[in-house]
Amino acid sequence: METKQFKAESKRLLDLMINSIYTHREIFLRELISNASDAIDKIYYKALVDENINFDKDNYFIKVTLDKDSRTIKISDTGIGMTKEELDDNLGVIAKSGSLKFKKENEIKDGYDIIGQFGVGFYSSFLIADKVTVISKAYGSNEAYKWESCGVDGYTIEPCYKDSIGTDIILHVKENSEDENFYEYLEEYKIRTLIKKYSDFIRYPIKMDITERRLKEGSENEYEDIIEEKVVNSMVPIWRKNKNELTTEDYDNFYKEKHYGFDKPLKHIHLSVDGTVSYNAILYIPENMPYDFYTKDYEKGLELYSNGVMIMNKCSDLLPDYFGFVKGIVDSEDLSLNISREILQHDRQLRFIAKNIKNKIKSELEKMLRNDRESYEKFYTAFGRTLKFGVYDNFGAEKDVLQDLLMFYSSKEKKMTTLDEYVTRMSDDQKY
Ligand code: ADP
Ligand code: MG
Repeated sequence: METKQFKAESKRLLDLMINSIYTHREIFLRELISNASDAIDKIYYKALVDENINFDKDNYFIKVTLDKDSRTIKISDTGIGMTKEELDDNLGVIAKSGSLKFKKENEIKDGYDIIGQFGVGFYSSFLIADKVTVISKAYGSNEAYKWESCGVDGYTIEPCYKDSIGTDIILHVKENSEDENFYEYLEEYKIRTLIKKYSDFIRYPIKMDITERRLKEGSENEYEDIIEEKVVNSMVPIWRKNKNELTTEDYDNFYKEKHYGFDKPLKHIHLSVDGTVSYNAILYIPENMPYDFYTKDYEKGLELYSNGVMIMNKCSDLLPDYFGFVKGIVDSEDLSLNISREILQHDRQLRFIAKNIKNKIKSELEKMLRNDRESYEKFYTAFGRTLKFGVYDNFGAEKDVLQDLLMFYSSKEKKMTTLDEYVTRMSDDQKY
């Protein structure tokens, strides 16, 4: 067994990392699952160029196992694994990304595939763990190795046994403190929720043993716990599916699943844009006004994904205030993320997407006004006031965008009318 020290810079960096880069502890799971997915992707890429490798999708998965007795969370994958050198290189040197290297060596362009690039995600383990054990057997190797670290003091590597190719990451969860609850990460429900939140669209199945309380067979009041292995992520995001294969019901279900509202959406907009900045988006115009819409608690914004991984829950920069009622998600591979992948580095791409989305919402509303007056009036009853405010806001900067969407009550016709309609039916001698 060899004991090695982190390089001095690494020590400081690790400290910095654990304490300041990430604002949410819970992202450790997102990072480790992303790494596991990258490891499987690497076998997938190898199989593309090597016909001796048979990439049978059923054999590739990620499994998360919780053990309250030993206070551990295990994240296992059947990916490419790491050799002794790679454990040393990729986990022993902070800010070194084996995945970025792999992408470069194999000339993989930034696609929606390999997620890793900064070489720091792994260390987010220490946000919730006081000891991390990695057991790995690399593809093409007969030996397995165990890497272990308690944080800043360095790490050890020694040979060990593992029967199959892949990696197990074992997190030994920190002790609860007065103001911090770490044990919640040993709860099935909590972990399942985090997987859904951040990693729902990882391409490979993420499995968990799920406990379900059921009536005992033949009994009317006795229950038993049944444990079953289940896939807990959806894998293919609806916004990457072909529009033709999706029904209104599919869109409505997604709206419900995402808890965008209790109502049914009045309209959905599915965008797939390819160009200087490529992105997919699903946007919804709700039918009813959310109960807190005109309070300061209401937060506008769209969910933002990069490569299928959730980056931001509510990205407010994607919507102007006057379209603040719009719900939905945007996924783009072209965003420049900062190191914690929680915020964006340059907002050029984001501004581009925001502008695009604004125009699209506007044209869809105009279309609704022309072709489906009933729906539009429903929409206007719920959100018309926001549009009017948009015209007035910012010294009228956006009035040209919005004026054709406005309606006013006509005392003569006893119904809502647009400016256009009003002008059309003005008598010839009416000047203003
Ligand atoms: P990044 O993912 O940005 O490259 P990380 O700190 O998350 O950085 O991981 C560092 C490196 O460790 C990865 O690039 C990869 O080479 C290696 N690695 C981490 N987890 C795994 C895993 N589960 N299987 C194989 N390699 C891994
Ligand atoms: Mg990573």
